[in-house]
Amino acid sequence: MATEEPEVLKDLEQRARSYAERAVDADRKGLRSLAISYYQRAVDCLLRLVEAYPDSPLKHAYLKKIREYRYRIAFLRGLLSSDAGEARMVAGDRGGDGERVPESPLAALGIAPHRSTVTWDDIVGLDGVKRALMQAIVYPTRRPDLFPLGWPRGILLYGPPGCGKTTLAAAVSHEIDGYFYPIDASMILSKWLGESEKNVATLFRELRAIASRGTPVILFIDEVDSLLGIRSQEVGGEARVRSQFLKEMDGLQDKSSSKLPLYVIAATNKPWVLDWAFIRRFQRRIYVPLPKMRDRINLFKHFLRDVRKEGIDYERLARLTEGYTPSDIRDVCQHAVLEVVSEMFESGRARDPNAKPRPITTADLEEAIRRIKPSITPEIESVYLRWAERFRAF
Ligand code: ADP
Repeated sequence: MATEEPEVLKDLEQRARSYAERAVDADRKGLRSLAISYYQRAVDCLLRLVEAYPDSPLKHAYLKKIREYRYRIAFLRGLLSSDAGEARMVAGDRGGDGERVPESPLAALGIAPHRSTVTWDDIVGLDGVKRALMQAIVYPTRRPDLFPLGWPRGILLYGPPGCGKTTLAAAVSHEIDGYFYPIDASMILSKWLGESEKNVATLFRELRAIASRGTPVILFIDEVDSLLGIRSQEVGGEARVRSQFLKEMDGLQDKSSSKLPLYVIAATNKPWVLDWAFIRRFQRRIYVPLPKMRDRINLFKHFLRDVRKEGIDYERLARLTEGYTPSDIRDVCQHAVLEVVSEMFESGRARDPNAKPRPITTADLEEAIRRIKPSITPEIESVYLRWAERFRAF
């Protein structure tokens, strides 16, 4: 169903190409955030193209590009190794142990398996959350015989953006040496893939098949609220997707699936949008909080570990960054480093290939803190805490 005029489509194609070029350029220069943003825009244009021309002979080429860019985005976010996932993305072939990964139905949905390289050590703080994930996922996967009553399959991670939900899901998948399937809700809802509820059924059927051959599987659904949250505004499609999803979640508790190492981790920054029918399918509901004082000290140490620095007053920095998420703190550190490097270029010293930027100081970081505001206000945090009080379960 071509809903867009041909010129618009042509324009979309050109825009997709131009974003992709800019993404590759930024990627080459090591400008990670910029590259991610351009790849994402290229993906959005391609999705719209495939939606408008589902029967186009170019559809497969577009889908292949979408998969490549999504892979690259995940890689740039530090979630994937440089080889394993990529090899499978391109060839769609075998897992590390030689077993065949059934590629086609999932690949047609633009979904590919990844091997995560993120470990617990990459995550600062959050010890309670890590422990809850060990209990919910790692122990039952390692010794299913110790869990005769089965175990929960649905885990909801909720909390402010940039506090580590995605990173935790990737780390847990590494810990169980499983396949990691990160998807975002818009992928499933996208009309170009046909009927969304059928896609949900296909997704779960394929993942069950993979898990039944013994490879643990983590399905990670980011921003799950946009898939399932808004009851009052639904106009049919979303309602059917939600009921299919709930049915699939229930299916994971059936006798036939109850021993499968298949888990659904959903993440949301807006848990209050979810309804109870959905919430209760996630038997583990884990709050991923803002970092406390001690965590913020460790976050600064973590992000500055490979940076030349001098006499850093970590306590002071941590005091100044109340309400900052780990991702904000990373931005602060990055900003300070960029400033010091720019200074070196501007002074002309960078012409000497052996010259190094001067060490970073507390003052550089304080300046970056002044420029980058915290993502979360105390009011917003208290909304999360209230929701947690009511619905927390682990
Ligand atoms: P969320 O899914 O909660 O929005 P992410 O896991 O995508 O957050 O985190 C965004 C980025 O912030 C990560 O790539 C990582 O660099 C950093 N980050 C977030 N939480 C932590 C943490 N606890 N320790 C170290 N880095 C973190």
